[in-house]
Amino acid sequence: MTDVPVSTLVELVGADVVSLDPDVLERYRWDNAEESGAQTPLAVARPRDAAQVQEIVRWANRNRVPVVPRGAGSGLSGGAEGLGGAITISMERMRAIQIDPRAHTATVEPGLFNAEVKAAAAEYGLWYPPDPSSFEICSIGGNIATNAGGLCCVKYGVTTDYVLGLDVVLADGTLVRLGGPQIKDTAGLSLVKLFVGSEGTLGIVTRAILRLVPARGEPSTLVATFDSVENATEAVVAIRQVIRPAMLEFMDRASTCAVCDYSGEDLDRDAAAMLIIQSDAPEPVRSQEIARMDEICRTHAPIMTRVCSGAEEGERYAAARRAVFPALGARGKLMYGDVGVQIPLLPRLVNGITEIGERHGMDVSVCAHAGDGNTHPNVVFDADDPDAEERATTVFHEIMDLAISLGGTITGEHGVGRAKRDSLPDQLGPDVMLLTRRIKDALDPDGILNPGVMI
Ligand SMILES: Cc1cc2nc3c(=O)[nH]c(=O)nc-3n(C[C@H](O)[C@H](O)[C@H](O)COP(=O)(O)OP(=O)(O)OC[C@H]3O[C@@H](n4cnc5c(N)ncnc54)[C@H](O)[C@@H]3O)c2cc1C
Repeated sequence: MTDVPVSTLVELVGADVVSLDPDVLERYRWDNAEESGAQTPLAVARPRDAAQVQEIVRWANRNRVPVVPRGAGSGLSGGAEGLGGAITISMERMRAIQIDPRAHTATVEPGLFNAEVKAAAAEYGLWYPPDPSSFEICSIGGNIATNAGGLCCVKYGVTTDYVLGLDVVLADGTLVRLGGPQIKDTAGLSLVKLFVGSEGTLGIVTRAILRLVPARGEPSTLVATFDSVENATEAVVAIRQVIRPAMLEFMDRASTCAVCDYSGEDLDRDAAAMLIIQSDAPEPVRSQEIARMDEICRTHAPIMTRVCSGAEEGERYAAARRAVFPALGARGKLMYGDVGVQIPLLPRLVNGITEIGERHGMDVSVCAHAGDGNTHPNVVFDADDPDAEERATTVFHEIMDLAISLGGTITGEHGVGRAKRDSLPDQLGPDVMLLTRRIKDALDPDGILNPGVMI
């Protein structure tokens, strides 16, 4: 970094865009991972358009000042947390959206929330499927940067499957326009895919063209509880062999109890595991799929299975699943895991996670986008006990090692961020790490874009 003061950036783009107010800076220190290493940024920029993003990045590049792109700060891997000496560029003011109902696209600025894109699409009878549990509090830019998944992704795919085009501001301030509104496009390298999931390390997304689909019908919901985690996860494997449900979520007993305490929901606290399963196929296939999945659950010794009476009851269960993170967060400090394996190995992964938690005497619960093999082992600990944080970190790393040993991934949807950076080489190996580094160096030779994240 040169000794050019940050006040020159304020002069360049204006004090209404770049804030040096300590109270404001403090608000941008953390993301939802609340990593203990989060630092107060040097300044917070809140640009109104892509031209201002370019100006800020050009200034940062000239002066070798790092930048941290930020959406809504709901991330769970520390990717948007503040960095001392860096400018946090928050996209919160860039919120324009335009729907093309004939082409089935939404052209969106990155600061708009996922839920707002869904709502805008719904006005035209259209739907934007990717649905992270955090859909009401996370931005489209953050979803793109992390390649966010969610509950219905088991049937409809993840964020990358709906990104047709991107405007990206590169490390030198150049704005490139990648892809476009057309559904099929094989011209050149798949650069849109390269930027999706790049966690702000290769460029800053300033506009996206998203693919929409016709709105789906109301889903039907099946709930099944089990007195063994093994039976529940084996039921997941069996269902996925024959059906592609629209949702297939798993909650263990600790997750269920936390939600009951948090939101007053009346769920079976004694069940070892609960599955929440949906079909949204048109009738009569929907009823047939639900009946078939019910039958499969019944062959895995459930405590009970229940087909919900209507959409409202089904949504209550889905909301209970979405409430797991806040409910656990109310119990203590949370370390969010995100490991995934191929579906047949799900029972081994979940059993292994439980075994690791028990061995270390730590409170580790599991909820999962089970139909994708993507689990969330959540470690709850007492923030005031320094020893507990260290033990939680050990558990967190052992769980990632377990996923890698099963041929799986350290992150199915939250991204590597700062929290899982040290484990990435264990999954990718030296050759892929070197390739990743070469791509990073080619696009960001001075390493100003989100340093310390991912690589
Ligand atoms: C209760 C709860 C439930 C959650 N459930 C899910 C879930 O089901 N599925 C899931 O995938 N995630 C989930 N998450 C995690 C989180 O919401 C997602 O990772 C989300 O995509 C982050 O979006 P954000 O706008 O908050 O991004 P931020 O947290 O602000 O940033 C995340 C990353 O994206 C980068 N970034 C942000 N905007 C841009 C941009 N415009 N250009 C370049 N880089 C950018 C940041 O640098 C950072 O690396 C959950 C979080 C919470 C708190």
